[in-house]
Amino acid sequence: MSVVFRQLLDPTSSTYTYLLGDAQAGEAVLIDPVFDQALRDAALLEELGLRLKWTIDTHVHADHVTGAWLLKHRTGSRIALSAASGAEGADRLLAAGDRVAFGARHLEARATPGHTNGCLTLVLDDRSMAFTGDCLLIRGTGRTDFQHGDPHAMYRSVHSQIFSLPPGCLLYPAHDYRGLTATSVAEERRFNPRLAEGIGEDDFAGYMNHLGLPHPKQLDVAVPANLRCGRPEDRDEPAVQTWAPLTLSFAGIHEVQPAALEEHVARVQIVDVREANEWTGPLGHIDGARFMPLGELAGRAAELDRERPIVAVCRSGARSAQAVVILQRLGFGKVANLAGGMIRWRASGLDAVGARE
Ligand code: FE
Repeated sequence: MSVVFRQLLDPTSSTYTYLLGDAQAGEAVLIDPVFDQALRDAALLEELGLRLKWTIDTHVHADHVTGAWLLKHRTGSRIALSAASGAEGADRLLAAGDRVAFGARHLEARATPGHTNGCLTLVLDDRSMAFTGDCLLIRGTGRTDFQHGDPHAMYRSVHSQIFSLPPGCLLYPAHDYRGLTATSVAEERRFNPRLAEGIGEDDFAGYMNHLGLPHPKQLDVAVPANLRCGRPEDRDEPAVQTWAPLTLSFAGIHEVQPAALEEHVARVQIVDVREANEWTGPLGHIDGARFMPLGELAGRAAELDRERPIVAVCRSGARSAQAVVILQRLGFGKVANLAGGMIRWRASGLDAVGARE
């Protein structure tokens, strides 16, 4: 029985999320879902006719917040990750050798510590594919300098748990920053510059201890959130809007992309919160938008219709995100931010009144 397989990207963190499904049984799992992309993933599952059984995180991520909690609320999926992760809020804590089933198929968990002490590699039942998280990357590895990382453990994890898979087994990492999407056991055994044949454990540890990488930007937000499986600290229920294709940021801001806004433009109120000189400036403004500078927004909110969805717009998407917060505080339920603001709107080739090149 063939497996439904999709590789999904979160462009902000370069994270790959993997969907695996058994079409006949109508069941699926998601590996490493991203909070900001959870609505996208749920929409895809629905279109494919798949019920999400499990989300599985390969480890406690430091660069993005997991979508596990949000997807559980939205789809009824259950949360799995390793017992060694130390996370709270999971439905199942995995140990080496455990199986996570979807329909007639399953993934087997292998313990591959080194990047963190709770890292798992997930191997498809027929050993045709494995999902290596941040242990083995394409021609690289995850870093080992925080979250209980240990290059010696990583070296042994790769050799005993990943390089022991069949040579043709395809490997899918949690990240790639160069646009590569997959590799194989044979390929990495030959060409991985840190781990190819002939490189010893101490060589590897020496390499890893001198990477000199910067502190990850999201670490202080992402790790505590991921230790709660992606549940925001101040909420037990997600407020999810569905009136347009929206993404939801961990900060609680719904975003709409320019093309999606254009498609729904007749149904929404567009509120442009820039200053007067920007409204008439070279980027122009969206036809039909209402001009309401951010400083006047709270005082003039009564002019807006509470029933129709509102999209806030500014130059780059930052001030309009604040406008969303202000409107939500005033009790408006359907409010989203135009992602990337007028800059992205124009870069997407969409018209604006008064725009000059
Ligand atoms: Fe990681």
